[in-house]
Amino acid sequence: ALLLNHCAALELVEEDGRLCGVVVREAEGGRDYRIAARAVINATGVWGDALRRRADPAARPLLRPSQGVHVVVDADCLPGGDALLVPRMPDGRVLFMIPWGGKVLIGTTDTPRTDAPDEPEPLAGEVDDLLAAAARWLRRPPAREAVRSVFVGLRPLLGEREGEGGGERGGASSRISREHRVEVSTQGLVSVLGGKWTTYRAMAEEAVDAVEAVGGLAQRSSPTATLALDCGVRPGAEGEGEVGVDASLPGTPPGLPPGLVPGAAAVRRALREDFALSIEDVLARRSRALFLDAAAAAAVAPAVADIVAHELGWSAPRREAELAAFLALAARYCARSRSTASSPPPG
Ligand SMILES: Cc1cc2nc3c(=O)[nH]c(=O)nc-3n(C[C@H](O)[C@H](O)[C@H](O)COP(=O)(O)OP(=O)(O)OC[C@H]3O[C@@H](n4cnc5c(N)ncnc54)[C@H](O)[C@@H]3O)c2cc1C
Repeated sequence: ALLLNHCAALELVEEDGRLCGVVVREAEGGRDYRIAARAVINATGVWGDALRRRADPAARPLLRPSQGVHVVVDADCLPGGDALLVPRMPDGRVLFMIPWGGKVLIGTTDTPRTDAPDEPEPLAGEVDDLLAAAARWLRRPPAREAVRSVFVGLRPLLGEREGEGGGERGGASSRISREHRVEVSTQGLVSVLGGKWTTYRAMAEEAVDAVEAVGGLAQRSSPTATLALDCGVRPGAEGEGEVGVDASLPGTPPGLPPGLVPGAAAVRRALREDFALSIEDVLARRSRALFLDAAAAAAVAPAVADIVAHELGWSAPRREAELAAFLALAARYCARSRSTASSPPPG
């Protein structure tokens, strides 16, 4: 496979009513490329309807985004190191508290949305709801001051409901199906919609079967059901590998759990070996610093910016702009624990 990171599919190319490629924009240079293809798979998660409707503007939206908020608090809120799962809260949701990276991850909400923003914000009350729910089960409930980061994701749920749905928050989308669907449009776009991480193999198998048919490729049976995962995950893939030998970055706050923010060598490795192209790639995707402790991520960001600028040859103005953008993002992850008055989604 040839993987093109930071490349957005802008348009689908059609000939005689059948798709024959995509136009992509490469984010670094801003150049557009036309890629010819015998088959096109739309695996854009919660944004899947947008691409489907580019192939067919009349296509009925099939996805109903559901927002899930996560709160990360200091580890002393859940001493002992075991995870805690409440399988059924009064509103039907699952509540979990999981030790993670020297902190504790608390999740999650299940709030229907009608839009799918790139960086969704918690809605009014979602953070408070989570902290109040956790407080029912903990001897030392987490205070707002213990919140180190708040992050939000959108589940790509299929629109069909499994049963009679309620209308209120937390009750409605938790009852929507977590199943998936592989749809082939009349133009030949293969869309993988809905589903979960835990069902990705079945989704991939169905998608490849569909592509074989659409692209006129040889039909082969998939080995996925019996194929063992190669678990040769390189230690350090989440920034933990070089703890103890890696030099701390200037600005690293004292007393952090080991590996929470990467050291200088881990940052260089992210850039040289793991395709990181931005400060956010390093601090949110090659390590989990932004999600574990947003203020700590902000504190090391200038030092990370120095290394990224040196490795990738950024100009001084570019370094400043990239750093400012990351600091603004980190400030949102911090501020979410304090503000509860986000406006509801439109529509
Ligand atoms: C709060 C929450 C809790 C969850 N809990 C669980 C769980 O417990 N168990 C479980 O199995 N699953 C869980 N999930 C679901 C799981 O995260 C998703 O099913 C999974 O991430 C979907 O993967 P995907 O590859 O289809 O989509 P994504 O991971 O969303 O990837 C889609 C990608 O497409 C890119 N993209 C979008 N538009 C374009 C375009 N035009 N051009 C190029 N790229 C584009 C996006 O940038 C993105 O990187 C949860 C999700 C959330 C939000």
